[in-house]
Amino acid sequence: MSLYVVATPIGNLGDITFRAIETLKKVSLIACEDTRYTRKLLSHYDIHTPVTSYYEYNKIKKLDYLLGELKSGKDVALVSDSGTPGISDPGFLIISAAIKNQIPVLSIPGPSAVISALATAGLPTDSFVFEGFLPRKKGKLRKAIKEMASLERTVVFYESPHRITVTLKIMQETLGHIYIVIARELTKHFEEVLRGDLAILIPRLEAQPLKGEIVVLFNTSFTNPEKNTNTNKNSP
Ligand code: SAM
Repeated sequence: MSLYVVATPIGNLGDITFRAIETLKKVSLIACEDTRYTRKLLSHYDIHTPVTSYYEYNKIKKLDYLLGELKSGKDVALVSDSGTPGISDPGFLIISAAIKNQIPVLSIPGPSAVISALATAGLPTDSFVFEGFLPRKKGKLRKAIKEMASLERTVVFYESPHRITVTLKIMQETLGHIYIVIARELTKHFEEVLRGDLAILIPRLEAQPLKGEIVVLFNTSFTNPEKNTNTNKNSP
């Protein structure tokens, strides 16, 4: 009777550990966000374990069922659509409930977009803050940006391609000139890391909107190491 918190790829199906595959094969049940999405991963690795959905809108309803399975002695794996469960996706509730019920919670570590972006951004990594998704309302967003900037350490947050330009404009209004890094589609075909001052990146994004999954990083105490914008495109 254990809950295994299993990290899965953030894009490239090859980014999964041997332990993750072994665990997903041996548990009785896999709780995942989108069953269709997870089944693709499972079928790639020839894993036939039953899956059940556990996502934002049924996580409270499903909690008793999953706890019941665990208490009956079954091993359950928790995965999310990508990366590490609980990092800006459902997971906290079942993990904390398992702990309250004295059910062992075991980590099967692997990818997470926050760590991959941080490791390749080229910003200081000795101390950093992860903010998940920022508030959507402009007033709250502005306040969050001010607070993050005052920390004077590397800040990492997740952003959607629909909101990225608005968020960057509010960052510019609030903070002025600032060097940022945008890590997009990490580990995937269109992987790209944009680095530069907001004054250069914003017009560029307006001309050619970004698509895909995005992580933004900045550090107000770090000086821009380049004059302009720099892009890494790592296509396989
Ligand atoms: N649990 C995941 C993790 O450990 O990274 C995060 C889940 S959160 C719902 C999804 C967000 O993570 C995306 O909107 C994006 O900001 C970021 N993300 C996930 N995969 C990514 C990738 N391959 N490249 C860049 N950002 C990614």
